[in-house]
Order: sequence, then C-alpha cells, then structure tokens
Amino acid sequence: MGGPHVTLLPEEAFGHCDSFLIGEAEETWPEFLEDFHKGKERAVYRSEVIPELKNIPLPRWDLLKRSRLMKGAVFATRGCPYRCAYCNLKQIYHDRFRVRPIPGSDPRNLADEIEVFRVLG
Ligand code: SF4
Repeated sequence: MGGPHVTLLPEEAFGHCDSFLIGEAEETWPEFLEDFHKGKERAVYRSEVIPELKNIPLPRWDLLKRSRLMKGAVFATRGCPYRCAYCNLKQIYHDRFRVRPIPGSDPRNLADEIEVFRVLG
C-alpha cells in the first residue's frame, strides 16, 4: 500500500496491509518488487528521494481492460508551484514542483505516453 494517505498518515494505514511504501516510490517500488519475488518483503519502505521524473517507464495500458469510463491517465507534473495554506500537496511532494521531460530530452517522455493513448483509442 502506498500513496498520499500512507505518506501523510502512515500510522493510520499500519495494520491494514503487509507492506507500506511511504513517499515517492520511484526507488522503493523496484526494491519492494525484488524483495517480494524473494519472499522477503519488508513492512516499511520509506523514501525521501525527490525523483526528477526522467526515464519513467511507459505504463502498459495495452494490458489493461479499458472502458469509456476508464481510459487511463497521464501525469505531466508532480507537485504544485503554488502555496495554498490549506493544501497538503507540498508535504506529499517535498514542496518541489517538477515536470516530465519534453520530446527530445528523454527517450521515454510524456509525448510517447500520450501517443500510446492515441494509438489505443
Ligand atoms: S490547492 Fe494545492 S494543488 Fe491546488 S493550487 Fe493550491 S497548492 Fe496547488
């Protein structure tokens, strides 16, 4: 289990799952999968790393059963450049606004992911 709730309030999540990924999981997710395949997964994987969002693998949308209501989603940014006092996004994403690379700067970029959706329809 991971995501915003686990990252912000892990103590509420503990007890509802065997393993927890706290923070952004670009580094801890592969580590968890490796441990899982060995049958040695830990209870907590915590990351303080702020990923640059480069070389993110393209999701295999073609493997999912998609529908009119569930076409998928592409994320282009992470975090937010604004600082609304009531918002917890800065606690989730280290108060760092980041954008995914544009074409030509990354072999696996945002435009490629959007193209997958165009091809799949
Ligand atoms: S509410 Fe949060 S995500 Fe929305 S503009 Fe304000 S800081 Fe950004």
